[in-house]
Amino acid sequence: MEEYQVAALLMAIYFQGLDPAETRVLTRIMMESGERWTWPDEGGPVGDKHSTGGVGDKVSLILAPLCAACGVRLPMVSGRGLGHTAGTLDKLETIPGLRTDLEKADYDRLLREVGFAMGGQTGTFAPLDRETYALRDVTGTIESIPLITASIMSKKLAEGLDGLVLDVKWGDGAFVRERERAEELARSMIEVGESFGVRTEAILTDMESPLGRTVGHALELKEAVEVLKGLDPEPRLLEVTIALAERLLVLTGAAPDEDEARRAVREALEGGAAFDKLVAMVRAQEGDPGPIEDPDRLPQAPCRLEIQAPRDAVLAGLPARRVGRLVVELGGGRRIKGEEIDRAVGLVFPRALGDRLAAGEPWAVIHARDRTGAEKARRVLESIVAWSDEPVERPPAITARISHGSKLRPASTA
Ligand code: URA
Repeated sequence: MEEYQVAALLMAIYFQGLDPAETRVLTRIMMESGERWTWPDEGGPVGDKHSTGGVGDKVSLILAPLCAACGVRLPMVSGRGLGHTAGTLDKLETIPGLRTDLEKADYDRLLREVGFAMGGQTGTFAPLDRETYALRDVTGTIESIPLITASIMSKKLAEGLDGLVLDVKWGDGAFVRERERAEELARSMIEVGESFGVRTEAILTDMESPLGRTVGHALELKEAVEVLKGLDPEPRLLEVTIALAERLLVLTGAAPDEDEARRAVREALEGGAAFDKLVAMVRAQEGDPGPIEDPDRLPQAPCRLEIQAPRDAVLAGLPARRVGRLVVELGGGRRIKGEEIDRAVGLVFPRALGDRLAAGEPWAVIHARDRTGAEKARRVLESIVAWSDEPVERPPAITARISHGSKLRPASTA
């Protein structure tokens, strides 16, 4: 098929949509364009997690070793940063020596020896998606639910999974901003996953503000390590990670029910088994585990600038997209394809939305290359943060849980 014909097809799908059966066919064509993985029966069920991308989202770095410690094998194929969001692969590569250019034979060995592996797209994996994505990019047809569904699910289904959990984000920092469209996307991906025999569920999560306390590669890796070590995890980050991990254990059959899954996840976190799995993966992927065992050895930005609360007030809002863009401007993201990124720069938000701060208390720490960059970032942060004199309720991170054929279950009744 000529490129102009594909472009016309993409445009038609963008405007007309596809019904579920057509979406399945498109997904199958994409998936069958490349390698499809299978796994030996022994060694436990195989699962994965996918996020539609957010700011400060380091969930995969915690969830993969956590679920591996609970008996799920995870052949995690991750992406790089896109726009104002950072990618898991780039965060992992903060670890000196760590290889992410894994072939299937590497995944075979890693799943056997460690239980999980985290690498990038292999050359032969859903190649049609890569070509189509490039065309979508230049024809303005990225934001189409059937096209996003086929793109994501063709790659996930090619991994040969028993179960898949999806974190579909909505809000300011998400690629799909409206909650209703995020739900539509979640349902579309669940429908495709289940039709291929992969147990699939989704949670909808709030991306109005960043997830966790950090944004930036090394800072996020450090936060993930601290969660695995049980060191004062940020509640919303923990909530999302645990919800996804528990459902993955149930969907793959690694746990018989939700109660057992909850017990297994808590034990793996509190007993240190999840952290040990991360260290084992880093060693097995030829990385230096030193900076994981002692995160102060991760790259550090030379300039730090603390920002203080201007008055006694409640932290009421921190728009995620602007925060993500700010980290890109600090050098922590790519403005053009292939650009080098500075993994040390970023932002730390020690206090959560809804917290009341005294005048002069620090609410953000900028990690920058130099004083000029830090001062510029300070001006932006001060212009986008919202303060309130009245109490502000902290918004829940999970706003709904969606399973095959289910009515929407608000998180509060889930
Ligand atoms: N991520 C993908 O892999 N594909 C899309 O279409 C959007 C996000």
